[in-house]
Amino acid sequence: MGHLIPLAELARRLAVDHGFAATIVTLTNLSDTAADAAVLSSMPASVSTAVLPAVALDDLPPGVGFGTLMFELLRRSLPHLRALMCSAVGLGPTAALVCDFFGTAALPLAADLGVPGYVFFPNSFTLVSVMRRLAELHDGAAPGEYRDLPDTLRLPGCVPLRHAELPDGFRERTDPVYAYLVEEARRYGRADGFLVNSFEELESAVAEAFDRDAADGAFPPVYPVGPFVRSSSSNEEADELDCLGWLDRQPAGSVVYVSFGSGGALTVEQTFELATGLETSGHRFLWVVRMPSHDGNNNALGADGGDRSQDDPLAWLPEGFLERTKSMGLAVAGWAPQVRVLAHPATAGFMSHCGWNSTLESLASGVPMITWPLYAEQKMNAAILTELTGVALRPAVRREDGFVAGEEVAAAVRELMEGEKGRAVRQQARRLQEAAARVRSPEGPSRLALEKVAGKWKAGLGNGD
Ligand code: UDP
Repeated sequence: MGHLIPLAELARRLAVDHGFAATIVTLTNLSDTAADAAVLSSMPASVSTAVLPAVALDDLPPGVGFGTLMFELLRRSLPHLRALMCSAVGLGPTAALVCDFFGTAALPLAADLGVPGYVFFPNSFTLVSVMRRLAELHDGAAPGEYRDLPDTLRLPGCVPLRHAELPDGFRERTDPVYAYLVEEARRYGRADGFLVNSFEELESAVAEAFDRDAADGAFPPVYPVGPFVRSSSSNEEADELDCLGWLDRQPAGSVVYVSFGSGGALTVEQTFELATGLETSGHRFLWVVRMPSHDGNNNALGADGGDRSQDDPLAWLPEGFLERTKSMGLAVAGWAPQVRVLAHPATAGFMSHCGWNSTLESLASGVPMITWPLYAEQKMNAAILTELTGVALRPAVRREDGFVAGEEVAAAVRELMEGEKGRAVRQQARRLQEAAARVRSPEGPSRLALEKVAGKWKAGLGNGD
């Protein structure tokens, strides 16, 4: 979801603002048909979708991780993508191929077909930098890996990153996806440009560093086209409307929204502790409760994932919790209409796994955050939010495995809602909300960046006027 939602928004912009016809291509093996349809059904008529056929993956060793499956799937789907693109030629010339940042295996295909190849980053400039550095580490004069470097990685303009904050898969070469990531990053030099779902005020020094490199020809141009925040749909499900109805009945600026994205999973112990902390904080909360993991995996795409849709996550809350907190909180199972929740006047804070879309949605609504990163690049996002931009607080973590005790949950919520630090991050979140609105306005830099790219594509087709 974290990749599809902003990619769909990009397609919408290209269609509505720039007159392109767009085809969003997904993969059978990776698709959740119902969830995809919910995102894609509201697209304009000139945005169509295509699902590439399933490919065989049964030769991979049993128990292989999600990352390996995903990269293999993308690689093996290339013949189908080629067939699709060749068949589309009859519909008119193709202006560009835009691939997800995990799908750069498609860039050589774009070059082969004589079509500009762009990479869409549903993420930060900082992650572009980290990916780029990964390739340099392997191809430079002194090949190495991140763990050979000093504990703090200082990339141009980026927040200093400790090894533990680097995204999953990047830290050492023994990780099964490491080699795939290096390959991804190596192909970056072949891109004609990067479209990044971020904006300058959020990571200004990193953006400037990329501008300098593009001017020197050292790296393809990086266009800040974000923040993309999905326009909320008006046809929410009944339980989603319940959630908004509940918020309507709460005082303005009184509720902490708690959610860990579309893939985050807490352990049973952590779910219990979070519940205790929210209850003792004395503040109102809206908590999207997901099925806990039983194997310690904090990513529902991991080994303990799978279809648990028949199970009730609320059954894992402490005995009597729902009854005791019913005047202060609402716990909903699985999913909430997040964009509308964050934009609601009752919402004052967001305890978040720091997925990049969640981050941008929170900033677009001026809502400060409490960071609770779980997997992927979320720890790095938490560093950007706390140390670089000052829009978030971190709960104290006293255990190696990242476990947060109930009293620390309560302390973080109280600090956000009542404390000095809370006041400071709230102010900063408002400042970034204004900046986000400014860059997204019709003459704002994000719009102009996409217009520039669209102009190049049109010029390539010979109708640049
Ligand atoms: N989302 C939502 N309701 C939920 C959980 C998630 O609408 O209960 C949406 C959220 O608004 C965001 C996306 O799903 O657009 C999650 O993307 P993100 O990058 O934050 O995290 P991921 O799910 O990829 O970890």
